[in-house]
Amino acid sequence: TIREAGSAGEEAKDELTRLAEGHLVQPWPVSGSIGAEARGRLEAGEGIYVTDAAGRRLIDGPAGMWCVNAGHRRKELADVMAAQAMELSYNSPWYTTNAPSAILSKRLADHAPQGVDHVFYTTGGSSAVETALRFMQFANNVKGRGEKKLIVSRQGGYHGSTYLSASLNGRPRDHDWMDSASDQVIKLACPNPFRRPDGVGAAEFCDYLVAEFRNVIETAGAERIGAFIAEPVMASGGVIVPPDGYLFRMRELCREHDILFIADEVVTAFGRLGHVFASQDVFGLDPDMITFAKGVTSGYFPLGGVMIAGRLLEELRRSNHSEAMFAHGLTYSSHPIGCAVALKNLDILEGGLLEHARAVSSHFQSRLKALEDLPLVGEVRGMGLMACIECVADRVSNNPLTLDLEVGKRIDGHCQELGLLVRPLINMCVMSPPLTITQAQIDDMADILRRGIELTMDDLAREGLW
Ligand code: PMP
Repeated sequence: TIREAGSAGEEAKDELTRLAEGHLVQPWPVSGSIGAEARGRLEAGEGIYVTDAAGRRLIDGPAGMWCVNAGHRRKELADVMAAQAMELSYNSPWYTTNAPSAILSKRLADHAPQGVDHVFYTTGGSSAVETALRFMQFANNVKGRGEKKLIVSRQGGYHGSTYLSASLNGRPRDHDWMDSASDQVIKLACPNPFRRPDGVGAAEFCDYLVAEFRNVIETAGAERIGAFIAEPVMASGGVIVPPDGYLFRMRELCREHDILFIADEVVTAFGRLGHVFASQDVFGLDPDMITFAKGVTSGYFPLGGVMIAGRLLEELRRSNHSEAMFAHGLTYSSHPIGCAVALKNLDILEGGLLEHARAVSSHFQSRLKALEDLPLVGEVRGMGLMACIECVADRVSNNPLTLDLEVGKRIDGHCQELGLLVRPLINMCVMSPPLTITQAQIDDMADILRRGIELTMDDLAREGLW
């Protein structure tokens, strides 16, 4: 059994690897190893650290997948899960409700922009995005404007792995072998100041991006566009902080043309940028809907949701179609255990962790920014406790390295030897540690990263690749 296999000893661990290789289909596999892959196994976590199967203690650089915001092995989170499971482990959200989801809804509404005061709970980020999109479709059907359903997203964006949410994703390679609802989606340029289109200067980049959106609205017709979706800071696309004023001006265009603005805060919420929601508190933005997941439970339980402006619900209540049903719901919507953990997690954030995250973020950003003196590093960028190190072929042209070098993976390999887990993204490394990280731990992380990049430069030079 797994318990026996997990008990101890190298032999048992090999057995676990055999079980995974024999039976586990892991996310994002390539067809050459699908269903037959053994990824590095983690055994335990504590604070900002995880321990791998070889017993090495590693700083959890990406906090799992941008989610373990409160850190690993928090007893109060484990206790609240157990207590809720013993109180009421589950209730059908079709016919009933529960206390944790009601209380959590009010607390989230208090943190969200004024008027964005209702919540629909889901099982994670993809289902949150899917819910926001289906809500937009439903609302426009009820309003008698069934044509207004195109969704505008951006190159480089990531919004999920369900059919419609995945169709919004802007990383071209993700679509190479997958079907998508491309007829329902229009993609704008990535607002990446480091990789602007040829001939577009830094000062005019924001104007360029806004003009592109205006053009799309004119060409497709505002009467056909239902929503614009954007991560305030693009996460998986390489921590892209858009130019100043961009989000505000895109929001204004949406308002002007009655296009719903969906802020996808699956990564940026729950302290990653120092606030429960970043839209208003960091960017002065008032979206119509905000999707969230991950950090809402610090990854201890699968939960997500979409905050919806009450005004949109009011419009539906007053429509001529009171019989129209929003035929959408998940077995685990409003899950009592998920909502109970989220409440305790919110206590932790409000009880000093948000403040701590804000306090250490400038040290985090400046220690990582200092890595720009390494010749392999083209840019280090970020905000709050999220950052990206982008490696380049040469720093004069900032040309990208060829994909097959997979420099991110090489850096990760060296860093793991030195005690740091990195999230490699082709030629980039993304960092988003638990928010509990201290200044001294940030120093450790930055020192290891520097060494890992230096060793990678040595390798590339030795192999004649760089
Ligand atoms: N939106 C964003 C911005 C994300 O980063 C992610 C996940 N990385 C998702 C949506 C999808 O969330 P999930 O994997 O929980 O479905």
